[in-house]
Amino acid sequence: MPGNRSTNGYGAVRIFNTMSRKTETLKTLKEGLVKIYCCGPTVYESPHIGNMRTYVWQDIFRRTLELNGYEVLHVRNITDVGHLKSDADTGEDKLQESANRRHSTAWDIARMYTEEFFDYSRMLNIRDPSVSPRATDHINEMLALIKKLDDNGYIYEIRNDGIYYDTSKFKEYGKLTGMNFAQLNNYLIGGARVELSKDKRNITDFALWKFSPVDEKRDMEWDSEYGIGFPGWHIECSAMSMKYLGETIDIHCGGVDHIYIHHPNEIAQSEGATGKKFVNYWMHGEFILVENKKMSKSKGSFYTVADILKKGFGWREIRYLLFSAHYRSQLNFTFRGLESAKASISRMHDIMRRLNGINEPDDNAELKKLRAFVNSHKNEFLKYMNNDIMVPEALRVVFDLISYINKQIEEGRIGKTGSEEAIGAMLFFDSVLGLNLAELMEEDEAPQEVIELLDKRDIARAKRDYALADEIRNTILDKYGFIVEDSKDGQHLKKASR
Ligand SMILES: [Zn+2]
Repeated sequence: MPGNRSTNGYGAVRIFNTMSRKTETLKTLKEGLVKIYCCGPTVYESPHIGNMRTYVWQDIFRRTLELNGYEVLHVRNITDVGHLKSDADTGEDKLQESANRRHSTAWDIARMYTEEFFDYSRMLNIRDPSVSPRATDHINEMLALIKKLDDNGYIYEIRNDGIYYDTSKFKEYGKLTGMNFAQLNNYLIGGARVELSKDKRNITDFALWKFSPVDEKRDMEWDSEYGIGFPGWHIECSAMSMKYLGETIDIHCGGVDHIYIHHPNEIAQSEGATGKKFVNYWMHGEFILVENKKMSKSKGSFYTVADILKKGFGWREIRYLLFSAHYRSQLNFTFRGLESAKASISRMHDIMRRLNGINEPDDNAELKKLRAFVNSHKNEFLKYMNNDIMVPEALRVVFDLISYINKQIEEGRIGKTGSEEAIGAMLFFDSVLGLNLAELMEEDEAPQEVIELLDKRDIARAKRDYALADEIRNTILDKYGFIVEDSKDGQHLKKASR
């Protein structure tokens, strides 16, 4: 396999670590294995494209690690309780609030939006994590962790409110932010990121366990030695990360919005309980802009994946646009960007089609030249991906190879072996990009009508119109002789044998 080899035989992957503010070479706890925890979605409404950007870059990163020969143990949780509307641990639980608004229960809301989240992430060809634990399935683990923090002297109770973490007792609280305790407190007060609550000892203190209101039965509540209630959002991640990955993990991922509150809290809980370092590398992805502005519901620039599909774009275009900017830069999501993503995917598809049509014998000297060019581009691509996921540069390498090959084809210099190796390079790139180019080639055999029907079926599924989706599937089989299969990564076509 090409790429820079580190001394232990795995690719030398470099990561910008938020904790050190430096790009560091990944050194895993266990040779050949990477343990990653990514903060997952809060399942109270449809995921928007900004949420999906986060999961797309994490997917690309995981695929890069795997291409380097690593085994990846990837945990991404589902937050289905305890994420309150305000960072100050006040306000209603987002799920409960969504349930009240929709005259449903928090349990039904959680089920519905968890399912929908997986539908969309699979549609965007984001691989399922190794484990997707639900917070509500891990209440005992969270309570056990709170008990440890209790034993270690970190907690206090606010009457009729909940059990809180006294952040002043955790010596290095907030180290992820690059500020000390006093600086961070001032920053949070000054920036009004968190409201001051008169009962909290420090502005940075946060709820580990919230009590149910005395006169109200919540949809989601559990009995505990601290009283009937529900867990705080932060304790969920510490408990689930520890359960599935151990007390210390290699990499923890999330959005930049987690640098100042959620992740410092995770560190305080985990390290306060175990006395061991929680995470070796912290990776944070930037936000998305829509048409150069902050995404906003009131301004009509808030898009879910379904919204974009309904406008006639396919999942590949959405995925492409979402990964096309470096994960630590803001991504400007525009309809022009989707159009240009479409053109880029077409160029990839076209070259594969052209290469696939070549059956001539190879000229040895030409083959040797082509092979050298192809291999150097594979190396270059991996070098960029391994350097803190430099996708824009890696894409330039892909298109440089495509231009070269197009020219070679025009000049009649490529034979069958050469074309196969060039197709191999495209599939090598695609093992990271995840555009399913191989499937595009299979679909080449299907008539255009079928491709259009598949797009319609994608939209039907996005709208949860399963009756229409089934009807389209039957039409494709009866009229065109193709079987449509639904899998983790979307729809697949297979020629029916008859
Ligand atoms: Zn988290």
